[in-house]
Amino acid sequence: MKIHEYQAKQILREHDVPVPRGKPAFSVDEAVAVARELGGPVWVVKAQIHAGGRGKGGGVKLARSLDEVRQLAGQILGMQLVTHQTGPQGQKVRRLLIEDGADIKKEYYAAVLTDRATQKVAVMASSEGGMDIEEVAAKTPDKIRKVFVDPLVGLQPQQARELAAGIGIPEASLPQAVEVFQKLYQTYMDTDASLVEINPLILEGNGQIKALDAKFNFDDNALFRHPEIEALRDLDEEDPAETEAHKHDLAYIQLDGNIGCLVNGAGLAMATMDTIKLYGGSPANFLDVGGGATAEKVTAAFQIMLHNPKVRAILVNIFGGIMRCDTIAEGVIAASRAVGLNVPLVVRMKGTNEDIGRRMLAESGLPIISAETMAEAAEKVVAAAA
Ligand code: GDP
Ligand code: MN
Repeated sequence: MKIHEYQAKQILREHDVPVPRGKPAFSVDEAVAVARELGGPVWVVKAQIHAGGRGKGGGVKLARSLDEVRQLAGQILGMQLVTHQTGPQGQKVRRLLIEDGADIKKEYYAAVLTDRATQKVAVMASSEGGMDIEEVAAKTPDKIRKVFVDPLVGLQPQQARELAAGIGIPEASLPQAVEVFQKLYQTYMDTDASLVEINPLILEGNGQIKALDAKFNFDDNALFRHPEIEALRDLDEEDPAETEAHKHDLAYIQLDGNIGCLVNGAGLAMATMDTIKLYGGSPANFLDVGGGATAEKVTAAFQIMLHNPKVRAILVNIFGGIMRCDTIAEGVIAASRAVGLNVPLVVRMKGTNEDIGRRMLAESGLPIISAETMAEAAEKVVAAAA
C-alpha cells in the first residue's frame, strides 16, 4: 500500500525526522489559507498523487506571494498530471501540499528498503539527490552507498556515519545526518514499511538536514496491525478492480493482456500465465482465488475479470485440493449468468470432485470449452482470444 507525501511527512514528523512545515489542501481557498498561516515568504505548491516525478511533470512549483499560491493551486488542482510513473493517461490531482519553501544547498538521496538478495534491510544513500535513482544506479553506481542492517541491533551509528560521510555531507552536519538515518530506519521498522524513500534529503543553507520529499510503501500483509496506516488509504489512487478484489480477499493484479485468468494458488497462477505466454497469448490479470474460496468469492472474482473491457477470453485453471472443483463450477456458472458471459470460457479442472464440477459445467448450457491439460487449456484460450 502507498500513501501521499503529506501523510508520509506526518509519520516522519511523529518519528522526529525533520521535514518542512506544511499542510494538505483540498481546494484553492484552503491552499491560500494554509499559505497565509505558514507565513512565507516562499511556499511550495505540491501535487499529491501516488507517483514520483511530479516536479518534472509540472506538479511542484515555487510561489513567492499569496496571489501566486492561489494561481498555482488553481493550475495544479484538478490537472491530469503525467509523470514517468503514471503512464501516458496521467493521474488527476485532487489534493495539494502547501509547504514552507526550503533553502536548498544540496540534494541527497536516502532510502530504507528490503533487500531480497541479502534478505536484510538495506539503508541506501547517494550524493545524487533529486534525480531518478534508477538512472544513478545504471550510470554511476559508485555514487550509491549501501549498508545492511542486523535486525537484532538496528542501524548502528557507525553505519549511519559511513553513509552520511560517504555521500559527502559536510562535517558540521554529520551528527544530525546520523540521527536522521537512524530515525528513518526506526520509522521503517515501526510501520512495517517495505520502502521509505527520501528524494531529496536536503542540506539547507543553515546546515540543517531535512526530508523534502517522502515516499512509503507498506507491506500489505502487515496492515492488519496498523489500522492507523490502513486509514490513510486513498482509493482514488488505486485501481478500482484491485480495490474490489481486496474487499473479497482475492489476490488480483491487473495486467495489459486480453486473457482473463482465474486460478487457485499463486504458484499455479504464475505457471498459468507463463503457459499462456508460451502459446503466444497475453494474460489480462493475475488472479489467485486462494485455497478455501467459496462460490461467492469465485463469483466476485469472475465479475471483476469480466469488468475489464480488454478481456477477450477467460481461462479457469483449478487444482482441486482443499478447493473443490464443484465449488468452482458453481461460482463460474453463477457469475457467467449474473454478468452475462460474452467471451469464450476455457475451463481446466483437476482434483477433488472434478467429475461433478465438469458435469455441472456441461449441464449449465453455457458455451464452455473444456481442456484436460494445462498446455491444451492455454492453447485453446489463446486461439479463442485471437
Ligand atoms: P518529485 O518530482 O515527485 O520527486 O517531487 P519532489 O518533492 O522531490 O520535488 C521535486 C524537486 O522540486 C526537488 O528535487 C527540488 O529540487 C524541488 N523542490 C521541492 N521543494 C522545494 C523547496 O522547498 N524549495 C526549492 N527551492 N525547491 C524545491
Ligand atoms: Mn522526489
